[in-house]
Amino acid sequence: MTRVTVLAGGVGGARFTRGLLQQLAAEDARSASASEVTVIVNTGDDMWLDGLRICPDLDTVMYTLGGGISEEQGWGRPDESRRTSTEIAAYGRGWSWFTLGDLDLATHIVRTDLLRNGATLSAATEFLCRRWQPGARLLPMSDQFVETHVRLAADADEHRAGDLIHFEEWWVRYRATKPVTEFVQQGLADAVAAPGVIDAILTADIVILPPSNPVVSVGTILAIPGIRDALQATPARVVGIAPIIAGAAVRGMADACLSTIGVQTTALAVGLHYGSRQQGGVLDAWLVDETDAAAVPALEAAGIRSAAVPLWMTDVAATARIAADALRLASAGEHTVEPAADHTAEPTLPVAEFAFPGPLRDRLVAAILDGSKTSTTSILREYEIENEPLPVAGSRQLLLDSAERPVAIIETTGVRVVRLGEVDLEHARDEGEGFDSVAAWRAGHEGFWHSPAMRAQLADPAFEVSDETEVVLERLRVVRTLPGS
Ligand code: GDP
Ligand code: CA
Repeated sequence: MTRVTVLAGGVGGARFTRGLLQQLAAEDARSASASEVTVIVNTGDDMWLDGLRICPDLDTVMYTLGGGISEEQGWGRPDESRRTSTEIAAYGRGWSWFTLGDLDLATHIVRTDLLRNGATLSAATEFLCRRWQPGARLLPMSDQFVETHVRLAADADEHRAGDLIHFEEWWVRYRATKPVTEFVQQGLADAVAAPGVIDAILTADIVILPPSNPVVSVGTILAIPGIRDALQATPARVVGIAPIIAGAAVRGMADACLSTIGVQTTALAVGLHYGSRQQGGVLDAWLVDETDAAAVPALEAAGIRSAAVPLWMTDVAATARIAADALRLASAGEHTVEPAADHTAEPTLPVAEFAFPGPLRDRLVAAILDGSKTSTTSILREYEIENEPLPVAGSRQLLLDSAERPVAIIETTGVRVVRLGEVDLEHARDEGEGFDSVAAWRAGHEGFWHSPAMRAQLADPAFEVSDETEVVLERLRVVRTLPGS
């Protein structure tokens, strides 16, 4: 059995966990095992509103995993009316900028009823989850009310500079545009981790920091006494997924939170902010997006195992692949670092060699490693002559540099065989060689295909391509770079 524990905020944490559950279900089916997922959820965004206890992140995770989320919004329920919110506003009460849908309000009413009758937030959460069956155990980070407030740097409407306002007011009403000087977790002094939280970290096989806000979601969870220590002490591997891609928060305004605490909005800076467990931080491993591959060496140098893979959670299948990569990266850390330039590191993988050794290969390999090259083209005849099977999606290869050293593991993510005349601009662009038209791409490739070396390989001294020549179009991604590359 694999025990996985996730430290989650709202939308990013919920979507990641949904993909993780799908991935684990597939792995469990294959190996006839059972995995168990616990999600420790940020409750720093919670508040009292209209007499009700609102827990935005707990509800987002519960609805997302339970199939009741509004996919469009990322929070709340689909197809709900706002009639009750509108009525409350007509009394001049509530927060006009924070509408609660009518279906969602039922959750808050039931939760508040339970709390008023003496239930802890953990117990109320467990009760609500009986209906939603999220497929994972959801634990609030704490049963005490810890609420994140922000200190305003300047006046804003009825607030004065220096005032503390609730994080959700800053986030939703001001879209995080008002400068703030600090985040204050009110109630932290009296808070302890909720029952089961510390245990879920200490007894896990893998702990995951999903792509949640590093400051006000994961950062708040880490501030609860005992949680950071548990992450330090656990025998589990701790792996994180960057919520920042190419220097920007994918959705939301995480950059405003990061700049407030003096951390740059890059996957590298956030990874280093969490820090290596070997040096008092919380990470063993950190996944960055393929476009941030250049950050991998610096992370590895800081003692954080790292790999660059696509991190866009575009749908559940893509998210499941991210989860698979995170699980793989976490367990890869159980071995000592493979020696560089050693084929035995990945003995079962075939090799991928681009062009011939020399400046062209150097350029292509560099473009693959920095994420700018995600497609490649070969002549179908090369495969026929060498009696080599066509690549298949999902297959992995060792990428060799000009010195024939393995520098990365790459994965074929798609294969098409088309006539040369059918190649489209997207494919040409994704070759990562700066082609901005199909004609430019074709001219560049003809130079290579008509070269003496290529003609020799094809055993045809007069070889020439035409619109009818069959070509193999491959899409690829870097699974991880190898040490020493
Ligand atoms: P919140 O409580 O609803 O703000 O949600 P979280 O704290 O769980 O996550 C919000 C963060 O998730 C955002 O700041 C984004 O940086 C990140 N995020 C959202 N969608 C994606 C995605 O598709 N890929 C990655 N890598 N990060 C994402
Ligand atoms: Ca949140």
